Amino acid sequence: ENFGPLGLSPQYIKALEDLGFEQPTGIQEKAIPLIRGGQHLIGIAQTGTGKTAAYLLPSLQKLQYHQPDFIRAIIMVPTKELVLQVLEQQQELAKYTDIKMVGLYGGVGWQKQAKQLEAGTDMVVCTPRRLFELYERMNLDLRKVEILILDEADRMLDMGFRPQINTLLDLLPRKKQNLLFSATFSPEVEELSWNFMDFPHKVEI
Ligand code: AMP
Repeated sequence: ENFGPLGLSPQYIKALEDLGFEQPTGIQEKAIPLIRGGQHLIGIAQTGTGKTAAYLLPSLQKLQYHQPDFIRAIIMVPTKELVLQVLEQQQELAKYTDIKMVGLYGGVGWQKQAKQLEAGTDMVVCTPRRLFELYERMNLDLRKVEILILDEADRMLDMGFRPQINTLLDLLPRKKQNLLFSATFSPEVEELSWNFMDFPHKVEI
């Protein structure tokens, strides 16, 4: 079992086996031990490298079990399509746990998503505008967030989401684990990382 050295719990090894993933990808091999060690991490990796599982697996392991009272992990991505992809991978990787994730995105009514949040979730994967809309409508408590992940950060900045990202950063506790994934390490991405990450590790593949 080649995922063994990464220190993942049996329920994740089993889920990876079910998926037919035989060995970790490069970004998984590098990022998972650092994230498990509690480091802030900048991962420079394209789509198709397995970056989603690289941040989902150690995040799931850190959360351990379902706890209905607070959102503890936020994954922010640029598009609805990506929200749905992350949700699908989370459901596969977390199938032997009770950890819950809700997807928040625009273009559909907010009421159903609000109901899902009210039922209690450990993680949300969201587009920037919809998270903020629900925050305002529901007075969401984001003060217990332990992990923030910005995925495809370069694309979010290209799409003009910087103000929404800044607003979110102000709502979250300063003390938490911060992860940023991006296909490119542009000056804009670097500047964003200075804004919320103290001494991040940087891994590239
Ligand atoms: P991503 O880069 O996260 O978009 O992942 C690209 C694809 O690779 C997804 O369809 C994953 O299900 C798949 N994948 C992720 N990790 C592995 C792995 N270790 N072995 C084989 N496929 C993987």
